[in-house]
Amino acid sequence: VPAVDTQTVSGELRTADGVPILISININDPAEIDALDPATAGVGLMRSEFSVTSLADAANEERQEAIYRRVLEQAGEKPVIIRMLDIGGDKPLTGLEDMPILEPGLRGIRLLLARPEIARVQARALLRAAVYGRLSVMLPMVTFPEEIDRMREIFREEAERLGRRSLPHRMPPIGMMVEVPSAALMLDTFGSAAFFSFGTNDLTQYLAASARDDINVDAGKAAPAVLRLIAQAVKLAAGKPVSICGDMAGDPRYLSGLLAAGLRHFSVAPARRPAISSAIIGLNADGTKAAGE
Ligand code: PEP
Ligand code: MG
Repeated sequence: VPAVDTQTVSGELRTADGVPILISININDPAEIDALDPATAGVGLMRSEFSVTSLADAANEERQEAIYRRVLEQAGEKPVIIRMLDIGGDKPLTGLEDMPILEPGLRGIRLLLARPEIARVQARALLRAAVYGRLSVMLPMVTFPEEIDRMREIFREEAERLGRRSLPHRMPPIGMMVEVPSAALMLDTFGSAAFFSFGTNDLTQYLAASARDDINVDAGKAAPAVLRLIAQAVKLAAGKPVSICGDMAGDPRYLSGLLAAGLRHFSVAPARRPAISSAIIGLNADGTKAAGE
């Protein structure tokens, strides 16, 4: 088996039978971008709610633009997917106490569309930062296609507004997290999404009828159901780019099942990358073990 380092030029690895696999990293703290090394394909998920933690941050276009711009500049030629604020549920935003955000259903894109002034500021910051690198924008907790259409309309309107202010900007591709089971089952109806990324943390909790880190449910036992749903959904993706950024992607125990489901792009916490990279070269693209392993 060749050393991993000889195979990881620009983040492209190959399975034992020669199929290219991309490994990107997930970042929470934007400073983690400094860990982006040549062996990584790019940033598959930047969780912006770690940078924007209060209503004041959410209203600050200049501050957000500077944070996103720095990440994009540091990533250089490599693609970066920044996810819009996934507020609600386990991720509060200081100052939003007036919203019933403890309601489990009001989070992610639903909350952004319920408070469009928050979405509009973030859209402007992202549109402006997009000039400085290869940005894509990802929407959290999408359940219905019209949510993407409404957010794209917000981006269009804010791009026009930036144009009137003569501020440089660029429209990024807009894709979605696949982390709500009903969206996964209906993925072929999401024609307006530019790309898909599976969020297995939420997919698991919603499939298993458990809360995140629920002590009453061994959610790991739902992994076969999650894998089956992903395999079905990948077939519905109609040739659009598909990746996975939930924790399952960084756990070698699930790698065989995820390869068998058709996934070829894994976005993992930086610390998980070496283990996943070495596991990939011991497997065939259909998830079976390579001869001699
Ligand atoms: C997920 O749900 O798998 C995911 C990647 O998003 P988060 O963990 O931020 O909810
Ligand atoms: Mg999630």
